[in-house]
Amino acid sequence: MSQERRYSFEFFPTKTEAGHEKLMDVARQLATYKPDFFSCTYGAGGSTRDRTLNTVLQLDGEIKVPTAPHLSCVGDSKAELRELLNLYKNAGIKRIVALRGDLPSGMGMASGELRYANELVEFIRTETGDHFHIEIAAYPEMHPQARNFEDDIANFVRKAKAGADSAITQYFFNADSYFYFVERVQKLGVDIPVVPGIMPITNYSKLARFSDACGAEIPRWVRKQLEAYGDDADSIRVFGEQVISEMCERLLQGGAPGLHFYSMNLAGPSLAIWNNLKLPR
Ligand SMILES: Cc1cc2nc3c(=O)[nH]c(=O)nc-3n(C[C@H](O)[C@H](O)[C@H](O)COP(=O)(O)OP(=O)(O)OC[C@H]3O[C@@H](n4cnc5c(N)ncnc54)[C@H](O)[C@@H]3O)c2cc1C
Repeated sequence: MSQERRYSFEFFPTKTEAGHEKLMDVARQLATYKPDFFSCTYGAGGSTRDRTLNTVLQLDGEIKVPTAPHLSCVGDSKAELRELLNLYKNAGIKRIVALRGDLPSGMGMASGELRYANELVEFIRTETGDHFHIEIAAYPEMHPQARNFEDDIANFVRKAKAGADSAITQYFFNADSYFYFVERVQKLGVDIPVVPGIMPITNYSKLARFSDACGAEIPRWVRKQLEAYGDDADSIRVFGEQVISEMCERLLQGGAPGLHFYSMNLAGPSLAIWNNLKLPR
């Protein structure tokens, strides 16, 4: 296995103090696996600004795993973005996930000055030079709001060429969509690593809802099997671990430059896959 591969876990900031303590316990457990980095999401339209900042600083400073804040531009002014970038830079944060983001449901117009993630990547480079390693989002199955697949590929290429260092994909359950996407963008001159985002399967109804919204297709054979398990959480877990582990194995064998786990603030589901794959610790 290549030494260059990178493994990371994503968290979301919690609403309560108890949730936050639980998140820190999970992070401590995941830290023993020596991931390359953690990341922490930025609530829709900047709604978790302070919680994301505090969680990132604590994960990075106390748990001592380099942590990348997600930052979205759809709800923040340039002045607000500049302030956050400076806070992160001064705190020694070196990696950032740059996104357009989505507006919270019910919120009408975007209040940000930057419209798309490629503009945010350019802004970060203008403001902070090469300080940050910039990650961007990739959609092997097409971003749900894109006009068409070709357009979305062209938009990704523009965003990558604006100064990104690597990309993390939306989750998917079809390895071929990932390989096809990477081949397409490489042909257009994008040579940054595109790391698959991996969503462990733990709960069918939540996964189905979420996948509908973000445009990730659950293959019929997986869906039908999960439906058949009904409320049998153990069977869902065992089947999910097997399906995702086998997909990850294929991805890595096919040259994927690492894996990024959507931990959902839980250690067990991601670690089961990590252990099945015998990833390095
Ligand atoms: C790894 C990962 C992490 C994420 N983390 C968060 C998070 O923390 N917080 C959050 O709110 N959301 C997060 N998201 C979701 C993301 O914000 C949404 O999918 C959002 O709708 C698009 O963000 P983007 O950065 O991919 O946007 P963009 O790359 O800007 O693309 C958005 C849409 O606009 C089109 N487009 C892009 N550029 C242009 C252009 N210049 N002109 C015209 N059309 C264009 C694209 O084809 C696409 O359809 C994450 C997604 C991923 C994959």
